Order: sequence, then C-alpha cells, then structure tokens
Amino acid sequence: MCAKRTKIMIEENVKKLLKEIPAANPQGEAVTLVAAVKMQTPEAINEAICAGIRAIGDNHVQEFRDKYDLIKGNPEHHFIGHLQTNKVKYLIGKVDLYHSVDRYNLAEELSRRGAAAGVVSNVLVQINIGNEETKGGFELDEAAEACKNISALPALNIKGLMAMLPFIDDESELRRLATLMRQKYDELCAVYPQFEHLSMGMSGDWKLCVECGSNMIRLGTSIFGPRHYN
Ligand SMILES: *Cc1c(COP(=O)(O)O)cnc(C)c1O
Repeated sequence: MCAKRTKIMIEENVKKLLKEIPAANPQGEAVTLVAAVKMQTPEAINEAICAGIRAIGDNHVQEFRDKYDLIKGNPEHHFIGHLQTNKVKYLIGKVDLYHSVDRYNLAEELSRRGAAAGVVSNVLVQINIGNEETKGGFELDEAAEACKNISALPALNIKGLMAMLPFIDDESELRRLATLMRQKYDELCAVYPQFEHLSMGMSGDWKLCVECGSNMIRLGTSIFGPRHYN
C-alpha cells in the first residue's frame, strides 16, 4: 500500500497511465514514463514512485537539491528543464539523464565538471522543433552538427534527442512536427549506435507523440493534477 497524503489521487493516476501507455511505440520500442515533478512535494513524488514510477524529472536545481535526500524507492533522477551553467556543479553525479542540453556552453560545462569528478553524464540534445522564440534548443537543421560537436566532448554520453511541441491545437501540425523529430532521430541513430531515447510528449500531447515514434514521455499534470503557480 502506498501512503496517501494528497487529495489528488496520484496512485490511481499512475496506475491508470501505466495501463494506458502502450507497451511499445510503432517502432517496437518500449515507452518510458518520466514523472515531471516540478513544484511537487517529496510526499507526492514518493506516492507516485510507490505506485510504479521509475524515473522522475526535475526542472529547478534548487528544488532538486532540497528534495533529493527525501525521495524514496531509488528512482532514476532526470533533469528536464532549462539548466543554468553556473548550477551544473550541484547536479554532477546525481542525474541519470539530462534531457535539455540546449546550447554548447551547457554541454561544455557538463563535460568539464564531469571530467573533473570522474563522471560521464548521459545527455539528450534538445531541439526547438517549433522554432519558438520562448524555447531553447537547436534548430532541427542544426541537430546533426550539434550531436557531432556534443558527442566529441569527453565526459558526455549522447543518448538521443528531446523536444517540446508547441502549445497549439492544430493536431495535424503537431503530428507533422513529431514525425520530423522521429525522422531526425532515426537519421542520427544510424550515426550514433548508443542512441536510445527520443524524449517527446507531455500530458496534453503524449499519445500523439508516442504514435509518431516517441519512446520517452514526461508527464506532470496527468500524474499530480494541475500545478498552482503563485
Ligand atoms: C512541466 C514539464 C513537463 C510536464 O508537463 P505536463 O503538461 O504537466 O505534463 C514535461 N517536460 C518539461 C520540460 C516540463 O517542464
């Protein structure tokens, strides 16, 4: 039994999602669920882990540090949000996968700090698939060059691509963008045999993303309910 301290039915949400998420995407790859835990309490996160979540993804370094020792059940720790270069030092050796390597100086800092600590970090290269000014990441056309440069850094292991689709209602446009991401991922898989993850899909669009070939989805709202920003 999971300890239930929250009004939102986290355990039920997780169990329902784990049933709903297909065992494989159309390419036959298993789909990994990462719980997006920004603004959630350690109790809520532990309830989700107890219900079957195996990986949690943080957005904020301070939250990550405050909660790290309170998380039970030994999940994978992912970092999914924008990461300031001067905060990399707090994460080295504690993050199993960085989803959001969106610029070269971040990749360089992760490699430099990792090398000094004897740690090789797993990273995804973030692509700004909607060419949105408000989002970070490399352009789709830059993806191959970005992977080439980032994979050359000594203390990084490049494991795939990450993207956030734009918040638009146009389903055919979303499918077009998600499919472009999958095509780029396939193209790069041929170059980088260590590629494993195409991280794409949030609460509002994960089904579409999995249908288009995502194999890693990051869900917050559908697990924990709506976030209340002050
Ligand atoms: C918050 C967040 C998510 C989850 O968003 P939901 O819509 O709540 O599922 C996924 N990825 C990133 C990078 C996020 O910041």
